[in-house]
Amino acid sequence: MAFELPALPYAMDALEPFISKQTLEFHYGKHHQAYVNNLNNLVPGTEFEGKSLEDIIKSSSGGIFNNGAQVWNHTFYWNCLAPNAGGTPTGTVEDAIVESFGSFNEFKDKFSKAAATLFGSGWAWLVKKSDGKLEIIQESNAGNPIKDGHTPILTCDVWEHAYYLDKQNRRPDYIADFWNLIDWNSVKNRL
Ligand code: MN
Repeated sequence: MAFELPALPYAMDALEPFISKQTLEFHYGKHHQAYVNNLNNLVPGTEFEGKSLEDIIKSSSGGIFNNGAQVWNHTFYWNCLAPNAGGTPTGTVEDAIVESFGSFNEFKDKFSKAAATLFGSGWAWLVKKSDGKLEIIQESNAGNPIKDGHTPILTCDVWEHAYYLDKQNRRPDYIADFWNLIDWNSVKNRL
């Protein structure tokens, strides 16, 4: 069974003014779709035929890993964002962040720094480790924390294709706007 591009959970222009319709048309419509197409071209005839994306991430390498993880990562990223979202989390999300990072502002600084300083293409992640603690990690290229046994909680795509049409080289501006789009309800459901 072929992998499919999951529907975007909102309209292409829903994240404006922070992420433009044009960016989503390319990022979701072209880049994410290309990873799906590449994976569907690579998997037939291999041991990964019929496997889930999670199984592929845990046990593959090379092109199958890169495209499989990028399919998963982008679907996850879209679900971390929402229109009319962002701001400061409350309740269980706030409690978990304060327990692991001291304060929301400290977490925001640390996560933003991880996203800004990641050299080249990749992803900044908030993960839950097996001991229940939250941690911020950087992953290059298609890197996904499932491979190391962590539970992904939140991610920020820092590949240039995520922001270049809107912000050109100004990755820090894209990261600043990311905080206006985080769907804390989805974060809560993953904790
Ligand atoms: Mn991307």
